[in-house]
Amino acid sequence: MKFAHIHLASVSVLSVLALTILAACAPVTPPPTAPPATEPVSQAPVYELFEVADGIYSYGNGFIYSGIVVTDEGVIVIDPMSSQHAALTLEAIRGITEQPMRYVIYSHNHWDHIGGGQVLKDAGATIISHVDARDWLVEHPNPDVVVPDEVWEGNRHDISLGGKTIELYFFGPSHGQGMTVTRFAEDRIVFLADIVTPNRVGFGNLPDFFPAEWERTLTEVEALDFDTAMFTHQEPSGPRSAVTQQREYIQDLRNAIFAEFQKGTPFLEIPNVIELPKYKDWAGYDDWLALNAWRVLMEIAIGW
Ligand SMILES: [Zn+2]
Repeated sequence: MKFAHIHLASVSVLSVLALTILAACAPVTPPPTAPPATEPVSQAPVYELFEVADGIYSYGNGFIYSGIVVTDEGVIVIDPMSSQHAALTLEAIRGITEQPMRYVIYSHNHWDHIGGGQVLKDAGATIISHVDARDWLVEHPNPDVVVPDEVWEGNRHDISLGGKTIELYFFGPSHGQGMTVTRFAEDRIVFLADIVTPNRVGFGNLPDFFPAEWERTLTEVEALDFDTAMFTHQEPSGPRSAVTQQREYIQDLRNAIFAEFQKGTPFLEIPNVIELPKYKDWAGYDDWLALNAWRVLMEIAIGW
């Protein structure tokens, strides 16, 4: 393959430098007082409840959204986010139903999605996650994050509650550990945490994303039967085409990097010369495109 030959030639010279850069970016455990990673600290967020389908809601503030499922046998929440967010979510639930809390589903291991589970556990919920997320949480405790009560293994686990079938899928690594795609079968809706954020380029330097596996996972999501996707950032829900657009963005970014290899652009200059005009109206384009390009470039270069 032509591209592989060109990029490997460039990489051999610079791999030591690349590794140095990665070492400098090694994750550091933030203090408990660190502000939420995905919310601006200077604005007071306004929370809203969106009914996506009968009994299926998105609840959030323009920056983060949880999923809520209300059935005749109880309530399920996907991603409590933080103690404050979970308390507001519980208040919103009590505004629409007296049904008991039954489950909290963790979408993946990241603290910014699963803080505050104790609030919903105190209200009666059993917390469930994929085993990979639980195992990571045991190794990386956080004072606001509760280790799940139950885990599931393998690629599929179904929960039936009050006439709704909640299908949990694990497609392998894509972002974080134990990334779970949830499908509400009867309503033809999927809930996607972090792996699809509509009309926005990837978040920052794509923390804990594995771009090639992320892209592959999105093809698996596209093969599911659904009409509507729910998101945890940017917008509460949208059409299934948002999944395809997210996958195409990753592919377009990788192809743009390969094009720079062909042109002979110096390796370290590539992230700063990448342009993807098709996405210029997406949020984060000016600030994050180069950071996204660094992540994809590094995966091409060193395999991670
Ligand atoms: Zn995440």
